[in-house]
Amino acid sequence: MKSRWSRILIAVGFGLAALVLELSTGLTGWAFVCLLGGFLIYVLVRGQEVRKWLNNPLQPMPLKSAAWEDAAKQVTRSIEHSRGRSHTLLQALKRIRSTSDYLPDAWITLHQQHEIETFNLSAQNLLGIKPSDIGADLTTLIRHPSLNRLLTEDAVEIVEIASPIDDAKRLEIRVVELDQSRQLVIARDISELNRLLTMRQDFIANVSHELRTPLTVMLGYVESMTNDELSEETLRELAKRLVTPVDRMRFMVDDLLTLTQLESAPLPTDDEIQSINGQGEIASVIDEARSLTTPDHLLKLEVDPDLYIECVPSEIHSAFLNLVTNAIRYSPDGGEITIRLHREGEYARFEVEDQGVGIPPESISRLTERFYRVDMKVSRARGGTGLGLAIVKHVLRRHQSELQIRSTVGKGSQFFFDLPLTSCAQIESRVIQ
Ligand code: ADP
Repeated sequence: MKSRWSRILIAVGFGLAALVLELSTGLTGWAFVCLLGGFLIYVLVRGQEVRKWLNNPLQPMPLKSAAWEDAAKQVTRSIEHSRGRSHTLLQALKRIRSTSDYLPDAWITLHQQHEIETFNLSAQNLLGIKPSDIGADLTTLIRHPSLNRLLTEDAVEIVEIASPIDDAKRLEIRVVELDQSRQLVIARDISELNRLLTMRQDFIANVSHELRTPLTVMLGYVESMTNDELSEETLRELAKRLVTPVDRMRFMVDDLLTLTQLESAPLPTDDEIQSINGQGEIASVIDEARSLTTPDHLLKLEVDPDLYIECVPSEIHSAFLNLVTNAIRYSPDGGEITIRLHREGEYARFEVEDQGVGIPPESISRLTERFYRVDMKVSRARGGTGLGLAIVKHVLRRHQSELQIRSTVGKGSQFFFDLPLTSCAQIESRVIQ
């Protein structure tokens, strides 16, 4: 309202000035020119004010007309809108950046001549790239012929190099062309994958070797048997000799199947877990061990008869049988073997102690590896497959327990593990049923 009056006043002012000019000079044309000139100056001054305001459009609009104020409001609204959008975009960008830092793979974007543009946290951890390296040439920072070829030759799509900050880590690096001048370099730590591949190759080599030995023996006997001049008695003798290598292969295949099943099996379900009497279990293990070995060893029992254990019975039977047969296998004839079962807090401890050959300290941590033997000849001669303790380890892992080993070379060894006891309430409810 105020601005409309001020405009009317200005217009009236100009009119009066023109009238005074015309009356005093009598020149109507000049009066009109002066009026127009004054008006132009007025418009130019206001225009200047608007230009000044446009430099900082969030300030209040200096011109107080409704049209100018409307225009100012629209300008302010559109500025605030685009500010909001930029803020949202910035937040989204920040989120993408910080999410990419959680990726285990490293990525770096390069532009022009392999200059580092951006990278994620894994690029720092795997490749040692620092924020101060932005703008530096990647091929100068990491001097490796394979990386050079990857970045410069189209035919090379993927290379494997050692991490520049940790020799033990192997990195698989690939490049994606983003556009004419930008590349994306992706690096992945493949050390674990390589380790698993090596383990698989070793495993296949070991199995082939283990099976080939008895097969070669069998082949020798079978070839001898094809001789027409052999007496029936010699033939029978040779056939008997075939039993040992055949048994050896059977044990090996059985152990391999057991191990493969255990390795891929999840934790046992409630239906698989049963409560068994520890003493009964030990008695059945000893019966079976006796049938497999010579009766010369002295088996001593120190067993609490009242302990009930929660387990998958068949698996614990096979684990404990492995420990007892090992104690017999690696003790001299007539050696004393003590089998114990006693309470350890909430757990029952199964223990086998022998006075056999013992194990060197550096071998103890490797005993549960597949096919690891302290002395290959002794193990083979005594019918070992090299898989027994690996089976024990996996059985106990399924029972959330662990094999403990103490040993002194020349004096003997002690193998033990703990399993949860069945609670008294459960035992009572079973007796009532
Ligand atoms: P193996 O079938 O050869 O006995 P295991 O996996 O059962 O395979 O045992 C791995 C190795 O651990 C054995 O070859 C042996 O060298 C050593 N070992 C296991 N039990 C005993 C023990 N009671 N006394 C001495 N050495 C043992």
